Amino acid sequence: SNERAKSARNECVQVVVRCRPMNEKEMMHGYENVVSVFPSRGVVEMFNPKDDDRSSSKMFTYDAVYDSNSTQLDVYGESVFPLVSSVLEGFNGTIFAYGQTGTGKTFTMEGRGTGNDRGIIPRSFDQIFTHISRSDNMQYLVRASYLEIYQEEIRDLLDTNPKKRYELRESVDSGVYVKDLQSFVCKSISEIEKLMATGNQNRTIGATNMNEHSSRSHAIFMVTIEMSDTSNQEIKNQVRVGKLNLVDLAGSERQTKTGSTGTRLKEASKINLSLSALGNVISALVDGKGQHIPYRDSKLTRLLQDSLGGNSKTIMIANIGPASYNYEESLTTLRYANRAK
Ligand code: ADP
Ligand code: MG
Repeated sequence: SNERAKSARNECVQVVVRCRPMNEKEMMHGYENVVSVFPSRGVVEMFNPKDDDRSSSKMFTYDAVYDSNSTQLDVYGESVFPLVSSVLEGFNGTIFAYGQTGTGKTFTMEGRGTGNDRGIIPRSFDQIFTHISRSDNMQYLVRASYLEIYQEEIRDLLDTNPKKRYELRESVDSGVYVKDLQSFVCKSISEIEKLMATGNQNRTIGATNMNEHSSRSHAIFMVTIEMSDTSNQEIKNQVRVGKLNLVDLAGSERQTKTGSTGTRLKEASKINLSLSALGNVISALVDGKGQHIPYRDSKLTRLLQDSLGGNSKTIMIANIGPASYNYEESLTTLRYANRAK
């Protein structure tokens, strides 16, 4: 087990790196592996493939690092479980999957199938409903919303009208929220899983190429848990609220490099903007010197404002690929994550 990951998990902002295994195509091509991961030290080492004797490697340190053999359970048990536990006590928590398209963001968040490869989102459903079923004298209400931010516009993935546009609002009572965004009460794992599946299906509507679409938009699954202690007369009517935000970010690859024009260029600059705004917010929070936190620079950071900083917990999972042809993008991701820390 990863002692380092365990000791980091009380921190408010954790930055974690996960390297996926080589895929079959990469192995067939015989690409060199340019990434070494040292879980006990939290270190990732990158070798420049142009450098024959490997003397100019670069090293980065994080709160936890996961190599290509790490399982979904490793990541969940060591890094995510404590965050979801604190949501169940009435705190806010956010998990981001960051990285170039194809490095495992969706694998990490959603995973694959119904077995060991299930990712963070379905495992968090398990944890939430298992906790609720085992709690005496507590009353819980679980609600879920699912939205997407595409080109700085918000879409409700649980709404039947995919064309409708949503606005961010702010109020004294609820902070920043999406006006008219739907939320559904969920009483079981299967109910919340169904919502997730519906939203994923809606996400594909209007997208000619799903891969392309998901690499250009942020998907945010939000779980709100209201809880009250029914045994204690004095605080009986006191309701605590914990919010869990599960975010599969747009691909971090430099979108401008392949001569994008028109819509593509506009998309690219908006993706770059929101990912760099997120990096700025997280690095300002980590610095913790009470400086201005630039939440207002993107819809993503504005929307998640009350779940980033303060008493909230945040985990940024930066995903990379191990193959030599990804060297530049992987290095960019490691630097982004390093800056965030
Ligand atoms: P992204 O969402 O970042 O574009 P995906 O999650 O779709 O990337 O991953 C790309 C491919 O690599 C998928 O086929 C996925 O199943 C596989 N993959 C990613 N991470 C892992 C991993 N840790 N172990 C096994 N397969 C993985
Ligand atoms: Mg994806």
